[in-house]
Amino acid sequence: MPELFIGGTWRTAQAGGRREIRCPADGHLVAEIDEASADDTRDAIAAARHAFDHGPWPSTSVSERGALLERVADLLQRDKGAIARAESLDTGKRLIESDYDVDDVTSVFRHFATIAQTESTEAAGHEAGRVVDLGRSDVHSVVVHEPVGVCGLITPWNYPLLQVAWKVAPCLAAGNTFVLKPSELTPHTAIMLMGLLQEAGLPDGVANLVVGDGPHAGAPLSTDHRVDLVSFTGGLETGKRIMKAAADTVKKVALELGGKNPNIVFADADRETAIDMALTAVFLHSGQVCSAGARLLVEDSIKTEFVDEVVRRAGQITLGGPFDPEAETGPLISEAHLRKVQAYVERAVIEGAVLRTGGERLASGDLADGFYFPPTVLDECHSKMHCVQDESFGPVLTVETFRTEAEAIRLANDSIYGLAGAVFTTDAAKADRVAAKLRMGTVWINDYHPYVAAAEWGGYKQSGIGRELGRAGLEEYRETKHIWRNTEPGPQGWFGSGGEATP
Ligand code: NAD
Repeated sequence: MPELFIGGTWRTAQAGGRREIRCPADGHLVAEIDEASADDTRDAIAAARHAFDHGPWPSTSVSERGALLERVADLLQRDKGAIARAESLDTGKRLIESDYDVDDVTSVFRHFATIAQTESTEAAGHEAGRVVDLGRSDVHSVVVHEPVGVCGLITPWNYPLLQVAWKVAPCLAAGNTFVLKPSELTPHTAIMLMGLLQEAGLPDGVANLVVGDGPHAGAPLSTDHRVDLVSFTGGLETGKRIMKAAADTVKKVALELGGKNPNIVFADADRETAIDMALTAVFLHSGQVCSAGARLLVEDSIKTEFVDEVVRRAGQITLGGPFDPEAETGPLISEAHLRKVQAYVERAVIEGAVLRTGGERLASGDLADGFYFPPTVLDECHSKMHCVQDESFGPVLTVETFRTEAEAIRLANDSIYGLAGAVFTTDAAKADRVAAKLRMGTVWINDYHPYVAAAEWGGYKQSGIGRELGRAGLEEYRETKHIWRNTEPGPQGWFGSGGEATP
C-alpha cells in the first residue's frame, strides 16, 4: 500500500528502506512500510511550496479554515474505533488510552476551529488587521498576520496522533502548507489523518506526508531553503541537531523537547491523593510521557511511610497488552528503548541509588515477547546523579528529600529542563509561592498530567522554544506584517524635488 501522500496523491516511496512495524506488546508484525528517501521528502516540499505560492489555501478566509478543521474533528469521531486500534497496535498502549487520545486529538482540531471562527467574527480580527493610530490623517497604518509558508512538522512516537494534531491543526488554521514526518515507529494514524484531511476537502498539496526515519526522510525539512518553519517534538539531542541544521536557512524553529519533571510533596499534602498522583505522574503509559513526574521530591518528615507506600503500590501495577482488560499500563515502544531504560537503572544503582522495586525487564512468562519493563523506584537519590538529571522516558521514579520550602524549590529547579512539575500541599499560599518560583512551562497544584487544548504548552530552559496550544499555538505559525499606506502621497522634498521635508 502506498504510504506517502504528496501533492494530493498517494504514492510508494522511491528508494528509501523498508521497515517492519511490530506491536511492542507481543512483537507481532503489524505492517511493512516503504520509507521515504530524502528525494521523496524534497518532492513533498516542492508540492507544499507550490500549494503555498500558487494554491488557494493561504488566502482562504479564517472562517473557511475553521469550518474545515471542524469537519476533520467530525471525521475523527466517526473513525474513532479504527484510529484508536491502529494507535494501540503501533504503540502497544492500552486501547482505552488510545480512545482517550482520539478524543483529545478531536478537541485540538475543535479548539483551533473555534479560534479561527472567533477571529473571523471579531471586529478587528487578526487577518483584517490591527489599526495603529498614528494621530495623522494622511497615513493608514495596519498590522496584519499572515501564514509563515511551508512548515516541516516532525513528531515523536509516544502520543503519535496527538503530537501530530498539536502541529497540524494550528498550522492549517493559520493558512500554511506542510510536510509532516511522524515517527518511523508509529506511522499509521498519521497516514489515516491524511485521508481524513483529503475527505474534508483540503486542497491538494496543502498536507503532505512522508514516513521514514530522521536522517533520511526527516533531515531535508530542516535544511531545504523552501521550508520556512520547522516545528519539532522529540528528544533534546535531536532538537539541537535540527536547530543547528535550520540555522543555515534561518528558518523559524519551534521545539518541544524532553523533561525531567519534579513532583514536590509537602508533609501537609492530602496523603492518599499525593500517593495516587505520584504513581500516575510517572507510570502512566509506562513513563513514556514528556511531562512524566519522574522526580519525586518528598518532605523529609513523611518520606519513609510515603515512599514505602509508593513502592508497595508500584509493585502491584499490572502490565499487559492493548486488549487486556486487566492491564493498567503497557510495554515500552521498542527493544532498543527497553535496553536504554535497563542500562539507565543499572547505572543509577552503580551511582548509589537504592533499587526498591522493578529494575529488570519481564523476560519470562506471557509478556516475554513484548518490551515490558516494570514500574521501578530508585530511592536515596540526589540531584547530582545522572538518574535525577537525565530523562529515562520509561517507568522509573527517583526519590529525593527536602527539609524546607526553599530547598524544595532549589532542588526542583536544579535541572537543564523546564517542561512541567507539580506541588502537593493543603496550604494554598505555599502552593502559590512554590508554583511562582518553579521555572517550568506547566505547574500543576494538587494534580498531575491534566492538559487542555485551550491552555498553552511549552518548555522553559532546554525543554523547548515556542508554545503549542492555546492562542499562542496559532501565533507560532504566523508572520506579522506592518502595512503603511500614505493616503496623501506627494514629494517629501529632502533632495530638492520641492515639497516640505519632514523627518
Ligand atoms: P526523537 O528525537 O528520537 O525523534 C523524534 C522525531 O524526530 C522522529 O520522527 C524522528 O524520526 C525524527 N528525527 C530524528 N532525527 C532527525 C533528524 N536529524 N532530522 C529530522 N528529524 C529527525 O524522539 P522520540 O524518541 O521519538 O520521542 C521521545 C522524546 O520526545 C522524549 O525526549 C520526550 O520527552 C520528547 N517529547 C516531548 C514532548 C513535549 O511536548 N515537550 C512531547 C512528547 C515527547
